[in-house]
Amino acid sequence: MNAMTEQPQEKPQLTEAEQKQKYNFNKLVKRLRHNVGDAINDFNMIEDGDRVMVCLSGGKDSYTMLDILLSLQKSAPINFSIVAVNLDQKQPGFPEHILPTYLAEIGVEHRIIEEDTYSIVTRVIEEGKTTCGLCSRLRRGILYRVADELGATKIALGHHRDDILETLFLNMFYGGKLKGMPPKLVSDDGKHMVIRPLAYCREKDIEKYSAAREFPIIPCNLCGSQPNLQRQVIGDMLRDWDKRFPGRLETMFTAMCNVVPSHLADPKRYDFVNAKADGTPRADGDKAFDRETFSDPSRISILSSKPAASACGDAS
Ligand code: SF4
Repeated sequence: MNAMTEQPQEKPQLTEAEQKQKYNFNKLVKRLRHNVGDAINDFNMIEDGDRVMVCLSGGKDSYTMLDILLSLQKSAPINFSIVAVNLDQKQPGFPEHILPTYLAEIGVEHRIIEEDTYSIVTRVIEEGKTTCGLCSRLRRGILYRVADELGATKIALGHHRDDILETLFLNMFYGGKLKGMPPKLVSDDGKHMVIRPLAYCREKDIEKYSAAREFPIIPCNLCGSQPNLQRQVIGDMLRDWDKRFPGRLETMFTAMCNVVPSHLADPKRYDFVNAKADGTPRADGDKAFDRETFSDPSRISILSSKPAASACGDAS
């Protein structure tokens, strides 16, 4: 049979379960793209001409961040470049071929840095003591240096909404501070702009996406460090709340975007000392004995249904 008479091959029909799976995956992709796009817009994370250094650890979060940024780059109304960076800290058993192979396969510009911070940390820190403090300080210094070498104007980290909430509670429970993790902030050395494009993304969405995309995950326990018990306690608490009170995490994240300094107790954020009753009525003034009333939390749980932009602008 020649090409002219060849019958077109019929596509195999998807089963109902496969169709549903495909539909759910498309919805998930759309939600993640929206979440990332909205965070980028709300915080002006990426501007025309930026060179974004995407820090890749080999975990689900950073793979997802790179993947979504690459897909948004194609349709963005601005031009920006992406360079993926992985720091091989020489932990025993680190599968050093996985990331270079993956990055070469998807054709993204990348740099693998090899620095044996593992030996330094194990030499300096007494056995049994937590190594994360020194390890992350060393890592940070190396990443700043590499950002300079690469001419990166933004350093993108893969922290997501649940990391941000976890940090908020860690600071409240153990640090005595009302402080989370910013979607965008100048680095501690004042020289770099750090961004967190996944700030609006739910961890469970990232988990599902990562599993569906079959990213070649590198295990995160190679350094042998004990898991941070406090972080684990908070993480368990948040997961439990999420199960028992659907919408609570969304509401809490929305709260982080709607801070009312006059209703907290920090004189550095609000000038209580010089406050005067000048006769001007104010909606956010003190309502004396009135109790606060709240609508159904699920009604302000907007991350799950609407673009997350609303989360940081409108809780009504
Ligand atoms: S868990 Fe291991 S690799 Fe991560 S910061 Fe701690 S010591 Fe470093």
